[in-house]
Amino acid sequence: MSDALRFAYEASSAFRRSLPTRPVGAQATLLELRAALGRPLPETGLPAAQVLAELVRDATPGLVAEPGPRYFGFVIGGSSEAALGADWLTSAWDQNSGLYATSPALAVVEETCTRWLVDLLGLPADSSVGFVTGCQMAHVTCLAAARHALLQRMGWDVEQDGLQGSPRLHVVVGDEVHVTVPRALRFLGLGAGRVLRVPVDGQGRMLPAELAKVLAGLQGPTLVCAQVGNVNTGAMDPMEAIADLCAAHDAWLHVDGAFGLWAAAVPGMRGALKGVERADSWATDAHKWLNVPYDSGLAFVKAPAHHRAAMTVSAAYLIQQEGEAARDAVDWVPEFSRRARGFPIYAQLRALGRRGVADLVAGSCRLARRAAEGLAGIPGAEVLNEVVLNQVLVRFTPPDGGDADAFTRRVVEGVQAEGTCWLSGSTWHGLAVMRVSISGQDTTEDDIDRSVAAIRGIVSVH
Ligand SMILES: *Cc1c(COP(=O)(O)O)cnc(C)c1O
Repeated sequence: MSDALRFAYEASSAFRRSLPTRPVGAQATLLELRAALGRPLPETGLPAAQVLAELVRDATPGLVAEPGPRYFGFVIGGSSEAALGADWLTSAWDQNSGLYATSPALAVVEETCTRWLVDLLGLPADSSVGFVTGCQMAHVTCLAAARHALLQRMGWDVEQDGLQGSPRLHVVVGDEVHVTVPRALRFLGLGAGRVLRVPVDGQGRMLPAELAKVLAGLQGPTLVCAQVGNVNTGAMDPMEAIADLCAAHDAWLHVDGAFGLWAAAVPGMRGALKGVERADSWATDAHKWLNVPYDSGLAFVKAPAHHRAAMTVSAAYLIQQEGEAARDAVDWVPEFSRRARGFPIYAQLRALGRRGVADLVAGSCRLARRAAEGLAGIPGAEVLNEVVLNQVLVRFTPPDGGDADAFTRRVVEGVQAEGTCWLSGSTWHGLAVMRVSISGQDTTEDDIDRSVAAIRGIVSVH
């Protein structure tokens, strides 16, 4: 190995080794990072070893211990050794993975992962999968397939003729829809502002009776977007009732399961998502709960023909596979040239096995319940959600009974600065909350207890 690559390997290893003990949040300010990194582009090049050494020196204070065991912000997930190792190999192999012809090994790995994933998540066996950058692009991919299918039924070829003059397509979402869904609709020309929003219950679950009312007022092609795993509460929409309504209305049912869909990999949790397998498309992430490095999302479509029709492309110079002979990734994703992101997923699924995936998901949920119990024991703390998955929402009232919104925000900032763990703030039904998300595979009970103790200490001094 060259000195430069040996250095990169050693610096990566040192960072990983530091994860359990380093402060979780970034240690440098914006101005410090600009002073260190914001240098002019050199006129002539520098040796690779020097460039990498300076990058590590200058970037490290601005890194966040996201793959570490006490990062509970947003919904992030760590990265396992198997997945990280495969990710290193993916970069070293540097395969353009758009076509079978450009990386036969990747094509077969992705087709194998497709089979494993639909089985693991209990989705229809013939579903197709696109390996995309994240759940955002999984929505774009799935909703493009929906747009194709719904308009084709009306005799309209959206791929050829676009949306100008097309039949109206209705889009229905729950009021707690994740922002990436309207953004995908925007990209697809369906207009984020034209969606019909269905009221939700106190946990953020779509109310089927309200959905029924909305659907009763609609005629023509309709797309319904449900959610398993609310980004704040972890709540799941009642999928069986929603699937019944969509079937009766002949609507396309899409599911945002960015992290919540993984509950389907746990035999004891499948009941909570019952009906999810009756949808037409599902978007999820591998880089969250599966603990694969960024970027890695998954777009599943029940009817491969609609998926392929929405994504495929052809050109005279491409060597493409006929029919289903072999997999050309360009047929299933919006990207053309792309990273071989199937390798880390393949490695992680083999490293965990079916039982390991289930244990990872169930284990995070158990730790979330432990965190909720610990946090509820802090004076003035109140857990606002039913802890059904890996998310906990806590709110803190100050000892003098004063402004709980301001106090909760101060506690969140205090926790972020203290460094034992890192969590983000959010707003739930107009109330400021601290949001705890447990999705890293290295988190232990001790990490939860240490974090709760640190939060208790911060509440007591603020
Ligand atoms: C994270 C998340 C998304 C977006 O996923 P990305 O991988 O960040 O694109 C969508 N929906 C939900 C519910 C999420 O938690």
